[in-house]
Amino acid sequence: MTAYEPVIGLEVHAQMRSRTKLFCGCPTEYGAPPNEHTCPVCLALPGALPVPNEKAIELAVQAGLALECEVETHSVFARKNYFYPDLPKGYQISQFELPLNGAGHLDIEVDGETKRIGITRIHVEEDAAKNIHGTGSTAVTIVDFNRGGTPLIEIVSDPDLRSSEEAEAYLRKLRDLLMFIGVNDGNLEEGSFRCDANVSIRPVGQEELGTRAELKNINSFRFVKKAIEHEIARQEGVLQSGGTVVQETRTWSEAQGKTISMRSKEEAHDYRYFPDPDLPPVVVTEERIEELRAALPELPEAKRERWQKELGLTEYDAGVLSGHPEIAKYFEEATRALLEQSGTKAKAAGKKVGNFVQAEVLRHVTTDGLEALFPVAPTAVAELLACVEDGTINGKIAKKVFASMVETGTGPKVIIEKQGLAQVTDTGAIEAEVSRILEASPAQVAQYKDGKTNVIGYFVGQVMKATKGAANPKAVNEILRRLLDER
Ligand SMILES: [Zn+2]
Repeated sequence: MTAYEPVIGLEVHAQMRSRTKLFCGCPTEYGAPPNEHTCPVCLALPGALPVPNEKAIELAVQAGLALECEVETHSVFARKNYFYPDLPKGYQISQFELPLNGAGHLDIEVDGETKRIGITRIHVEEDAAKNIHGTGSTAVTIVDFNRGGTPLIEIVSDPDLRSSEEAEAYLRKLRDLLMFIGVNDGNLEEGSFRCDANVSIRPVGQEELGTRAELKNINSFRFVKKAIEHEIARQEGVLQSGGTVVQETRTWSEAQGKTISMRSKEEAHDYRYFPDPDLPPVVVTEERIEELRAALPELPEAKRERWQKELGLTEYDAGVLSGHPEIAKYFEEATRALLEQSGTKAKAAGKKVGNFVQAEVLRHVTTDGLEALFPVAPTAVAELLACVEDGTINGKIAKKVFASMVETGTGPKVIIEKQGLAQVTDTGAIEAEVSRILEASPAQVAQYKDGKTNVIGYFVGQVMKATKGAANPKAVNEILRRLLDER
């Protein structure tokens, strides 16, 4: 049997975080009642003229810069003509021959290996409206134009991906990057990050590409993986049984667990692209491009490297903590605050905050697109860890205090004070407690004297119990050994 190799290219439509649409002043806000956010321009009333949104163009430039694309100083909007009810003008304003961003790349990691995936281009275009299909025999379809005209970038990858795992890794990395630079909110549920996949297979060793199927509008990372895997298997089945794969558009049906044919694929010439005569060319000066480059925030990859070098994090920890822009910010703020509050070295502070955030804070964190909800402020976590640093409490008690902080919203110092959790470092108090326990446990003392020194664990346990875990364990151990040896 012939062995086949999958060839996958992805087209991602990412909604840009602009308050207004691409060619009019209507808000892009999600969730308004249908057709609330419309005007003559985005409804395509006769005589209405589009005016490009400068902010959206600049966000698209920043996306290009973050993906190391060639940013063009001169690009052109074109009309993509087709008929569909969600497209009031009868054409979509997009870019064709002269896109804003040319070739770039994104490096992904799969199975511990880094692979460079080429970006063919990134162009700017407007979104279509949304058809809402009713169900049942008398069902009608209504069109909601709120989304029509929303600014998008389409990021087209080279056909460099060879498995569903690589496709998923690419999408996750791309989404993280766009979220970090503030171009996209990463919200798959609300449709602001959508993906089409071009999938074909070819015999291993063959240069020429096979006929591809385009999988449309897959809106979750899990579905992308499943849809691509299914499509590869389907095409293999067709070829193994002597058939030919036809070029077509397919969609993923989660209910049926397979891809389904939608229509035979249009070629670019079917869209009769031509430059939009209503819109002048988009000009972005070299100077402005450099300003936008300088304004880019630190990218997640650079953050991870810096944290490993300066804050002593492992690659794994740096990866977890840079998984979301707000979590990254939280970690950095808590670390900075701990450094200010205690004499800890940067590497120790980074490690302590990193461990605590991962072990205690993250399980209380919920994210929704770019939003993230934290149980307590980063400065409060720093304050708590500073109490561990100066010996007021130990690490175990810190967890208990943190739980109270989450529950009550109170600061760590108040909780430690109120609940009497401060570590007993007063050796007199510990000594009195140890003496009392030794007095009450003659059998265990005798065992210790017989050389069964591991019985010391029993004594430590008793002291900790008596002090409700507040005794400094190091002091307890020292005092125990001294008093036992004196007996
Ligand atoms: Zn409008």
